[in-house]
Amino acid sequence: MKYLTFIMVLLLLVSCSPSHQEYKIPVYVWLSGPGEATDDEINEQFTDLYAKGIDGLMYNGGQNPETYRRVGRIAKKAGLEFYAWIPTLMQGKNSEIDKSWYAVNGKGESAFDKPAYVNYYKFLCPNRPEVYHFLSKLYTSVAAVDEVDGIHLDYIRFPDVILARGLWDKYGLVMDREYPQYDYCYCDQCVNDFKNKTEIDIRSVEDPSQIKEWKQYRYDLITDLVNLLADDIHAMGKKINAAVFPGPDSVAKKIVRQEWDKWTLDAFYPMHYNDFYLEGPEWVGAMTREGIEALEGKAPLFSGLFICPDPEKKSEEKDPENHGLLPEEIGAAIRVSMENGAAGICLFTPGRMIDAHWKEFDKAIRIDYSDHK
Ligand SMILES: [Zn+2]
Repeated sequence: MKYLTFIMVLLLLVSCSPSHQEYKIPVYVWLSGPGEATDDEINEQFTDLYAKGIDGLMYNGGQNPETYRRVGRIAKKAGLEFYAWIPTLMQGKNSEIDKSWYAVNGKGESAFDKPAYVNYYKFLCPNRPEVYHFLSKLYTSVAAVDEVDGIHLDYIRFPDVILARGLWDKYGLVMDREYPQYDYCYCDQCVNDFKNKTEIDIRSVEDPSQIKEWKQYRYDLITDLVNLLADDIHAMGKKINAAVFPGPDSVAKKIVRQEWDKWTLDAFYPMHYNDFYLEGPEWVGAMTREGIEALEGKAPLFSGLFICPDPEKKSEEKDPENHGLLPEEIGAAIRVSMENGAAGICLFTPGRMIDAHWKEFDKAIRIDYSDHK
């Protein structure tokens, strides 16, 4: 009898969620909130996303665990996986963070006082034990919330020593090489630790970009921090994943020093934002392939897709932040991601999708690409 009840409940559940019954690739989204939204409004939004074929959220709701409890409850009710998306090394003014923990550039300027490119580029030094303790406390407090499936790291990197090609005009820069004002971290601790390890005084080197050990040293600082945080979250029985730059070799290592194939995470979400690199949707496939080969099956890769919010105005729009995939491009970007080994995709953001995007998306996510790999 109990078995029969179980079957009936199962049938009821199945009939309530028609959109997830047919074959569909896994889809995640990056989403921020909740702002002033009421529970009903959030519920309506999440129910709509689920009906459109979304499986889970990378949800950016600040640093308060109670926000994730409230929103997470609604996400679970809607049938969605729920990850807390909280920036890692980029941290604004905070009473728990000492000014001395911020990274220092090659000119000796603190990222707190004189951030690169934009005012919010206040990055912490990954080499400070205090920084690790701050982040560990933050992430474990959020991961302790029952409704949270895991932690999604972002800005887990150095500031861009070279900006993506598509951003040069926006900032009026020609980034033909590494310049000291964008190159981190030259704080006393990083400089001294590196000297103890290699006997190289990096401050006295004319062109630090030529020193291989200095590059590797900084890849390792990020890798070590990620893996410590991963241990903390895994010890709680929760998952941890990250948004990373494409590659790792062709972009991530070069411009933000992420050697992410060495990170012990449960999944990777490379931001395959082709327009930032002046590339078309096919490039997404090449980047997916590179990531899959680097990971060697250690963890799944979800291909991050950047959506154009106003397709009609794209050609006259100067700011690359407003570029992205057009409705007629989204199907190709999904196809090349899946054909090159992605486990699924992640959209930045559902709010940027217009009806024409959703229409093409709906067709593309229901194709079984496994024959084309
Ligand atoms: Zn440092």
